[in-house]
Amino acid sequence: MQLPIAIFAVFAVLWGALWGSFLNVVVYRVPAGLSVVHPRSRCPKCGAAITWWQNIPVLSWALLGGRCHSCKTWISVRYPLVEASMAVLALAVTWPWLPGLASGDLQPWQVATGVLAEQLFVFVLLAIALIDADTFLVPDVLSLPLPLIGLGLAFAVGPLRGVTWQQSAAGALAGGGGLLAVQWLYAVAMRREGLGTGDIKLMAGIGAFLGLKALPAVLLVAALQGLLFVAGWAVIGRGKLTEERGLASIRHLAMPFGPFLALGAVQWLLLSRIAGNALAHWL
Ligand SMILES: [Zn+2]
Repeated sequence: MQLPIAIFAVFAVLWGALWGSFLNVVVYRVPAGLSVVHPRSRCPKCGAAITWWQNIPVLSWALLGGRCHSCKTWISVRYPLVEASMAVLALAVTWPWLPGLASGDLQPWQVATGVLAEQLFVFVLLAIALIDADTFLVPDVLSLPLPLIGLGLAFAVGPLRGVTWQQSAAGALAGGGGLLAVQWLYAVAMRREGLGTGDIKLMAGIGAFLGLKALPAVLLVAALQGLLFVAGWAVIGRGKLTEERGLASIRHLAMPFGPFLALGAVQWLLLSRIAGNALAHWL
């Protein structure tokens, strides 16, 4: 029964790379208010349409030497990196489901539901992280569906992934409500806005997907990694805080929290599944 697992794993990587390709489109077009399905992608510099063979995840970028085929403008390395990251993450969330599929303990529909929903979750988290880092905004069109999808997933296959619908509902309420309280306290104490409402909706979605029990760890890890990043930025970026940048550098220190919440949620999702499987195996 090892062969089907390998086939599913390869399929998950290829499928994830396609998710990644679409992720680049979403991150570029959603903040600009453009459709994500139409028209075809074009080179932002010369407007040349990107043909199918120039649009193969990771591979095309490497074959084109990181340049537009028509005008030879550099294409950011972020595109293939996003595609590769999504391929790896798709495999990582698929992997824990495969032994149950191979042994027949899980029904194919249960595995398909769990895998697709978790891939969608990681996809949306990555999209929100990149858009928040670019624009300081978390688009509603990405964050608002998350609590509903998370709750639906809990009803469908929740016990299989250790998140019952009660855990999911409580997680959505506590995640959203908790950050709402933090936002209010911060605004009262500091007399300025600290947390965006986008973060509150995002946290409700994370709570719905991962359950109430995940929230303390996700918040703690997000805050710690955010602080580490700020500290690193302060040390590395100090030489750059020259007078000409002045206010601009202060704005850069006002950091979006969304990417760190997303990172913490992905870390919890992967670690809890891997640790859960290892524990089940060991017991
Ligand atoms: Zn071009």
